[in-house]
Amino acid sequence: MKNLMQNPGIRLPHFVIVKSSGLLPMLYKIQELSKELKIPDRTLRDWLAKGAPYLKDERGHLWVNGQEFARWISSQRKLKIRNRMAATQARCFHCAQVVEIADQTVTKIKGQLVHIRGRCPNCGGRVYRGGRLKNATIRSSAHESTYQESEA
Ligand SMILES: [Zn+2]
Repeated sequence: MKNLMQNPGIRLPHFVIVKSSGLLPMLYKIQELSKELKIPDRTLRDWLAKGAPYLKDERGHLWVNGQEFARWISSQRKLKIRNRMAATQARCFHCAQVVEIADQTVTKIKGQLVHIRGRCPNCGGRVYRGGRLKNATIRSSAHESTYQESEA
């Protein structure tokens, strides 16, 4: 039961980000909005449960203001970017946690893409990751939630 309140962020397909920016400042029914965003009803309900803004009328129907929803989507996205690993960190598969990379060797692959190799400061095992020179963050497949939990 730990970190229940610490929402690691939701999975936002790119097309949802694009489509949500086109939503109108009007109230959508769940079915309308999920159709608009091309996502299943239950995905949308899941997001509402995770903090997306909505209204409930006296008959128990849920309504979502398109513009507020779009704002929420964009805030989730920023949250996600903030939670990315720092450029100097990688996931050590031996320790099963994110560690600072010791003895870094950065190899340029192509364009902005780099490959960073080094050692885990805890176990001395090899760690590596891909990255970008420009913004020094990566599209990591590591679980961000695990990264946050390692703080606790
Ligand atoms: Zn390690």
